Amino acid sequence: MDLQLKDKLVLVTGSTSGIGKATAVSFLKEGAKVIINGRSEENVTKVVEELSTMGTVYGIRADVSIKEETDDLISKIDEIGDLDALVNNTGVFTVKPFTEVTDEEWLEYYQINVMSAVRLSRAFLPKMMERNQGRIINIASEAGIKPYPELIPYGVSKTALITLSRGLAEVAKGTNVTVNSVLPGPTWTEGFGTFITDLAKENGQELDAFITDYFKKDQPTSLIQRYATVEEVADTIVFLASEKASAINGAAQKVEGGIIQHIL
Ligand code: NAD
Repeated sequence: MDLQLKDKLVLVTGSTSGIGKATAVSFLKEGAKVIINGRSEENVTKVVEELSTMGTVYGIRADVSIKEETDDLISKIDEIGDLDALVNNTGVFTVKPFTEVTDEEWLEYYQINVMSAVRLSRAFLPKMMERNQGRIINIASEAGIKPYPELIPYGVSKTALITLSRGLAEVAKGTNVTVNSVLPGPTWTEGFGTFITDLAKENGQELDAFITDYFKKDQPTSLIQRYATVEEVADTIVFLASEKASAINGAAQKVEGGIIQHIL
C-alpha cells in the first residue's frame, strides 16, 4: 500500500527516543522528510546523524513546554517549508500519590503534555486549513480514558489532549485536514522503564517480578498480555498521517492491546 507520504514534511515532538523516535523512523521509511525535536542539542544532533542515512532529516532543539522556545521552533519550521503533518508526541508520566502532587507539578504537566500541542496546533492548523491538507496527531494514552490513581495529573492531561483533538477536528470540519489522537497502552520505552521502576518501588515489589507479572496482575484485561512495541505505535501514527486515512477524523485510536474493555 502506498501511503503517499513521499516528501511530506513532518514534525515529531520529543523524537530523540521512544515512540517519537520510532515514529520518525517509520515516516522516513515512507519517504517523508522528518524534523527531529528534543530538549538537548546533543541528543537531537545524535539522532539526526543516526537517521540521516534513511532520508531527509532536520533537527531543531526546543523545549516544547516553553512558549518562547516553541515560537522559535515554529519560525524555524516555516523557514524549512509547509508542514504536512504535526505529531504532538511529547509527554511525561511520573508515579506520585495524588495528595503529594503540588500545584506547580500540575501546571508543569499541563505545559508539557497539553500546552505543547495547543501552541503548535494553533500555529499550524490554520496554515494546513488554508492549503486544504494536513494532519495533526496527538499522542494521548489509554490513561486518558482509564484513570490510574498513581497517575492522576497524567490521566487528566491526556483526557484534555483527546478533547483537544476532537475539538480541532471540528474546527477543521469540511477541509482535508484531519485531527486524531492515538492512545497507546503500555509500550516499552525509556520513559516507561522509569515509570514501571517507580511503580514497583511504590508497591514494594521486586522489579523483575513486577515487570513479568505486570499484565497478569495489573492489566488482566489486556488481550495481548504483553507490552506493545514502539514500532507498533509508530506505524499506527504514520498510517493516520497518510492519504489512506482521510476518512479517519476526530477519532481516538487505541493501540493498547485491548486493555479498555469497551466495544467502541
Ligand atoms: P519517552 O520518555 O521514552 O520519550 C519522550 C521523549 O520526549 C524523549 O525523547 C524526551 O527527551 C522528549 N521530551 C520530553 N519532554 C520534552 C519537552 N518538554 N520538549 C521536547 N522534548 C521533550 O516517552 P515515550 O514512552 O516514548 O512516550 C511518548 C508519548 O507516548 C508520550 O506522550 C506518552 O505520554 C505517550 N504514551 C506512552 C506510553 C508508554 O507506555 N510508553 C503509553 C501511553 C502513552
